[in-house]
Amino acid sequence: MAHEGTLLRATLAASGAIAPGAAVPREYIGQALKELVMHEVGHTLGLRHNFRGTAAIPMEKLFDRAYTATHGTSASVMDYNPPAIALDRSKQGDYYSRTIGTYDRWAIKYGYAGVPGETPDAERPGLKAIAAQASDPEHVFGTDEDAGFAAYGLDPTVTRYDQTSDPLAWAKDRVTLVNRLFDSLETRLMAAGDGYPKLRRGFRDLLFERWYATLVTTKYLAGAYTSRDHRGDPNSRPPFVAVSAARQREALAFIADAGLGENLYRFRPELLNKLAPERWWHWGVNPFSEGRIDFPLHDWALAFQGTLVRLLTDPQVLSRVRDAELRADTRSQMVTIPDILTTLTASIWAEAGVQGSQRARNTTSIRRDLQRLYLARLLRMVVTPEPGTPEDARTVARATLVSLSGALGRAQAPANELDGYTQAHFADSRQRIEQALNAQVVQPLGPPPPPTR
Ligand SMILES: [Zn+2]
Repeated sequence: MAHEGTLLRATLAASGAIAPGAAVPREYIGQALKELVMHEVGHTLGLRHNFRGTAAIPMEKLFDRAYTATHGTSASVMDYNPPAIALDRSKQGDYYSRTIGTYDRWAIKYGYAGVPGETPDAERPGLKAIAAQASDPEHVFGTDEDAGFAAYGLDPTVTRYDQTSDPLAWAKDRVTLVNRLFDSLETRLMAAGDGYPKLRRGFRDLLFERWYATLVTTKYLAGAYTSRDHRGDPNSRPPFVAVSAARQREALAFIADAGLGENLYRFRPELLNKLAPERWWHWGVNPFSEGRIDFPLHDWALAFQGTLVRLLTDPQVLSRVRDAELRADTRSQMVTIPDILTTLTASIWAEAGVQGSQRARNTTSIRRDLQRLYLARLLRMVVTPEPGTPEDARTVARATLVSLSGALGRAQAPANELDGYTQAHFADSRQRIEQALNAQVVQPLGPPPPPTR
């Protein structure tokens, strides 16, 4: 991704590895090009994407050059791999795979190795013996149809542009790396004589990288590790192995904090005043590419946070949560719809004192936008649910709104000394909730339509 350039250059400059504003090292460019060529050649040889390739590489091996020299940074060059960037620069290893991966060798063997037999039927047993090695941890596989979000992917290890067998730990590292860079981005990214549009691009890239790391971890929610092993394969795994509830809760807490937390979009005014637009106005480039000359931080913050809220409350995800509950052995292994809405509400409406023990406090404009977006989402779930929304989500959303309304009522106590914005916002939000709760739900009661195929 183009965004990687900022993260890499800023990290390298921070460590003194390159001068501020300098280009990325030749070694990096060479490795990136080589991996790209290996990937495209893989397609010409018939390979599909393998977005699970990175899941074969343990976190502690990612920066171990001796290991990546033979294993690469992924079990497959058919993955989309971000460069491996070490938080601690002294630990930097390969940026990209320098070799094809263990999965690639196995897949090519299946497709091209000579197996005994004069006819296709006679070759079958030999080919089946190769295919039966699917459960080998070095042969992990997941492809395009597994790699999306919400309805389009439930396996947290099969995602484009993630890394290692522990994408949650990787995402946490990534967020730490990005958050460290904001304050000194100018000195790290810009040399004397550079124009400020470079800083604006870099700032936007960091926002994107931080958001993407949290996005990746939404797949832990009601997630499952999938496999395509056949019955009787050596060490064969079931097609679905649920992500443990502890892991799901860890991911949810991470998103609530690193994706939706209270101070995420607070930046120094000095930095915000330097986010200049591109002034080159020509084919494909213009100063209004973001609609305005100044930097629309509210728009970006709402877009990034809104995606997370929508994904975590997507009808398909909430439906999956209910089915995942059936596949859990005990209650303690479940993450439920109430768990999700409670966590989201506690994080997004923290200033209203929803935690009970906390006093209400003033909100910022960025937070009010997010609170309104989430409120609208809950109201919609209750009043005009999107097709496919489970009835349980509607009732839980209703209960969530009742308790939020209570918190907003208490928050308005004069002792809290809220500012005018916050008072108006809390009062308006409470009124919207009351109106929705009193509205008639116009919804035919009857059997749900059959699932679409
Ligand atoms: Zn490709």
